[in-house]
Amino acid sequence: MGLANKFSIAYGIAEALKKHGADLVFTAQTEYFKTKISDIAREFGGNDVILCDVSQDGEIEAAFNDISKKLKSIDFIVHSIAFSDKNELVGKYYNTSRENFLNAMNISCYSFTEVCRNAKNLMPDGGSLVTLTYYGAEKVVPNYNVMALAKAALETSVKYLASDLGEFGIRVNAISAGPIKTLASSGVGEFSKILEYERNRSPLGRNVTQQDIGDTCAFLLSKLSAGITGEVVHVDCGCSTIGVKF
Ligand code: NAD
Repeated sequence: MGLANKFSIAYGIAEALKKHGADLVFTAQTEYFKTKISDIAREFGGNDVILCDVSQDGEIEAAFNDISKKLKSIDFIVHSIAFSDKNELVGKYYNTSRENFLNAMNISCYSFTEVCRNAKNLMPDGGSLVTLTYYGAEKVVPNYNVMALAKAALETSVKYLASDLGEFGIRVNAISAGPIKTLASSGVGEFSKILEYERNRSPLGRNVTQQDIGDTCAFLLSKLSAGITGEVVHVDCGCSTIGVKF
């Protein structure tokens, strides 16, 4: 869930999953995105793209009903979705409007809870879910603003969901990805400065790639990570571990 184009983090994840032999189903927010990603879905041998605007009542449930008509069960889900009005991803956080606060929380955090609830019925033998978060949830990153609060709530929801779903053999984790230029990230003010700053302070001396995230996600969705749940795994070339760098 959350493939918009070839630059999406979801694209890197789909590539890694395909490499490891997964059969994939994609969802799209609107008809526009559905048309745009149909070729990509075919490239990955995916089934039909299923419409799902996670902000709309009933659409997540309807999407999972659609999926259950095509597949008896599923093994994993990737939630790679976030939204804020980009006019509020610049300047002071205190200027966030109530409307955008609630919308950002709804789409970027609550939707994952609803996805987990619906996924449960399609995972009779257990499964694994991964969502995407960012370091701005932990420490202040200029302009990340309301999205930081949504990610902080999302990270806490990962813990509660992991606790709720553990008895069903379902694992829930988040990847805290370093910055990558995508449609969503280009809405964050001065994003190129974030990229440059993280590249300069990274122990590995580079920015993270779609492939770095895709490979870690494949690990978290596979049995290789069977003992890991409720975690936020940082895939950021070590940036979040650096306090001071001379
Ligand atoms: P992207 O623009 O490629 O993907 C964002 C997706 O969210 C799009 O496919 C969009 O259609 C979807 N979306 C937004 N509102 C939706 C709605 N109402 N219903 C259904 N889908 C909706 O950007 P991306 O950077 O690949 O973002 C994917 C995830 O990764 C997001 O959660 C983002 O916060 C997170 N993330 C990104 C970065 C980065 O630097 N790019 C870093 C850390 C975490």
